[in-house]
Amino acid sequence: MKPSSLNARRRQRELEGLADGGVVDVLVVGGGITGAGVALDAATRGLSVALVERGDLAQGTSRWSSKLVHGGLRYLAKGQVGLAHQSAVERGVLMERTAPHLTRALGMVAPVGVGFGMGDAALTAAGFVAGNLLRVAAGTSRATLPSPRWLTPHETRLLTPAVEHRGLRGGLLSWDGALSDDARLVLAVARTAAAFGARILTRCRVDELHPDGAVVHDTVGDQRLLLRARHVVNATGVWADRLHPEVELRPSKGAHLVIDAGALGHPRAALTVPVPGEPNRYVFALPQEDGRVDVGLTDDPVASATEDPVADEADETFLLATLSAVCERALTPADVIGSYAGLRPLLEGADGATADLSRDHAVLERSDGLLTVVGGKLTTYRRMAEDVVDRVAARESVTAGPCRTAAQPLVGAASRARLADLPAPASLVRRHGTEAIELAELVREEPELGHPVVDGRPYLRAELRWAVEHEGALDVEDLVDRRTRLGLVTEQRPAAVAATRESLRAALATGA
Ligand SMILES: Cc1cc2nc3c(=O)[nH]c(=O)nc-3n(C[C@H](O)[C@H](O)[C@H](O)COP(=O)(O)OP(=O)(O)OC[C@H]3O[C@@H](n4cnc5c(N)ncnc54)[C@H](O)[C@@H]3O)c2cc1C
Repeated sequence: MKPSSLNARRRQRELEGLADGGVVDVLVVGGGITGAGVALDAATRGLSVALVERGDLAQGTSRWSSKLVHGGLRYLAKGQVGLAHQSAVERGVLMERTAPHLTRALGMVAPVGVGFGMGDAALTAAGFVAGNLLRVAAGTSRATLPSPRWLTPHETRLLTPAVEHRGLRGGLLSWDGALSDDARLVLAVARTAAAFGARILTRCRVDELHPDGAVVHDTVGDQRLLLRARHVVNATGVWADRLHPEVELRPSKGAHLVIDAGALGHPRAALTVPVPGEPNRYVFALPQEDGRVDVGLTDDPVASATEDPVADEADETFLLATLSAVCERALTPADVIGSYAGLRPLLEGADGATADLSRDHAVLERSDGLLTVVGGKLTTYRRMAEDVVDRVAARESVTAGPCRTAAQPLVGAASRARLADLPAPASLVRRHGTEAIELAELVREEPELGHPVVDGRPYLRAELRWAVEHEGALDVEDLVDRRTRLGLVTEQRPAAVAATRESLRAALATGA
């Protein structure tokens, strides 16, 4: 086993060690991108860390994002230059240093003549130039993210073939970062933290949170445990107010539809569609690496945070209608092969107004020392973690090194040149980085593991075995919904579950 390997045995051993009276420096609650980032930041500064998550890693919002690694253009449009720069810097850190294996440049096409009028196009082009300057200011190379440019109508249709050709005058092409899978980013961050000694304990629900520990229910062993810590960080996202009631959150739902790439002519770039009558609001059709396109997103306040938000009929109608307005063929519900939704936390301000924390993050400290970190973006998770661990490090009696995470490659990371040369299938490299070599080795030893879990999808049986032995997958849902995305396509889900159940049994038989 590697120091970064997570599995049922390690979980059990580490949980027993803590329940036996062990005290950690930092207890992190929540295994989304924020909590995983905090665990990594604290562990790399030399602090002892335990992270507890009630479900699986990336059980919450962090697996339902648009998977964009934003450059901050949106913030620039609102005059938030500092925030825009921060976002662009973090995008560069992820794409060039910490996670080149999980990120790629994604072309974004704004079709002009349909969707965007000539007037809008001039403004949009000016925004793209500003976005390019942000990239330069953040020190991100043009090889990582090319400069924006004008497309002819022919080029526009080559990249986004579904676009209506009548009236099309061309397109504006810009580039942003995209993740191959947001849940796998969370996993990579958590495993890197584990390599630095952090205990990553899934299926541990916090029922009571105190400044010096937590009452935790281990839902695997069905036992109540008292975990003790010198400092506690609540990183439970949209559920943060349940453990820190003074934090007043107002969630907002964002839904995506999943469409087969064939229905949109197998686009090679994302399509940007303005929402009529709502300036600066867009619907995106985002091509994914596994043959689907995710269409999002909505933004609707909900009364309270539910555990499993879903995309409903109204979301579907809005997204299909907005996208269809620029397409040659109108999309219908029959084109939708799956859907998902996540909740953004909106923080209620002191004056009753709401501050949109999807734009920024906040570190809130209670008088008893309990820290809560909420808001932000996947893109800026590293900075959020740095901010909250800085608060811990500044406390009397804490000896912690400086933040090191901007230079700490995540598990599987390597330069793009090295990744391109790895002797393993490109599809495995995009999900596993350098570890794809070990997966390819597994397949050589057991050729049976080289078969896809479900025909026509890219995931191999070897990846399920790997997930159980090294990626902390404990049950079928972890495998189908977070280590892979086999469960996203509604029609394929039963077959994926059945095949995965079989693989899980085999993997457990090997002793994981
Ligand atoms: C629809 C949508 C699209 C988005 N798109 C993008 C994008 O393209 N790019 C980008 O950068 N950002 C995007 N974001 C923002 C980004 O997804 C979120 O900011 C980020 O995922 C929040 O992570 P988190 O760790 O704070 O919360 P979460 O991922 O929700 O993690 C919180 C965790 O806490 C756990 N938890 C809760 N209560 C307890 C308890 N009592 N005990 C133990 N564990 C508990 C939950 O199970 C959960 O796993 C998007 C957000 C939404 C909603």
